[in-house]
Amino acid sequence: MIVGVVAVQGAVSEHVSSLKRAMSGMGISGEVILVRGGDDVRKADALVIPGGESTTISKLLVRFGIRDAILERAARDDLPIMGTCAGMVLLSKDAGVQAKRTGTVLLELMDLAVDRNAFGRQRESFETELAVKGFDSPVHAVFIRAPAGTVARGDCEALATFDGKIVLARQGRRMAVAFHPELTDDTRIHEMFLKMV
Ligand code: GLN
Repeated sequence: MIVGVVAVQGAVSEHVSSLKRAMSGMGISGEVILVRGGDDVRKADALVIPGGESTTISKLLVRFGIRDAILERAARDDLPIMGTCAGMVLLSKDAGVQAKRTGTVLLELMDLAVDRNAFGRQRESFETELAVKGFDSPVHAVFIRAPAGTVARGDCEALATFDGKIVLARQGRRMAVAFHPELTDDTRIHEMFLKMV
């Protein structure tokens, strides 16, 4: 199994090590590659889009031909994709006026509307124990200027909420995560993703 981590900006190396730990824990043989161009997307069996700054990442995805390759693989192979934080914003169909104003180019692969900075200035970064549907104990979730889902439509399902906002959603082989599972030792979110590959 080849899992690609989009490596244009943001929390890349942490995802690489979480994925490696999750793969070895699950007995999956394979490798984790850094995605820096469309050809890397074509090699991957699954893709992670990390946190960072969604506008910047979106523009780099276009510039390096990654966006086109993702859309092609999503349509042709139903490529499994997990977006965390800024990656959640990019997977959504609607990220509000701020995204429009900054020219953020969304991938629009999940029937999810998001609020880009859902927790505001008072609560820019925080950590909490989060109950996740299907898990027998909570995950320790680290939120950093996190987005959140406001509405999930169709077969897009909320798997965790915090303060009434959607912080983990799944639709088929796509996952949107508002927090940073790559910043803790717990690999259950990455495992959930790898199970759908
Ligand atoms: N809210 C940020 C954005 O939309 C994402 C923050 C993050 O990835 N830590 O760019």
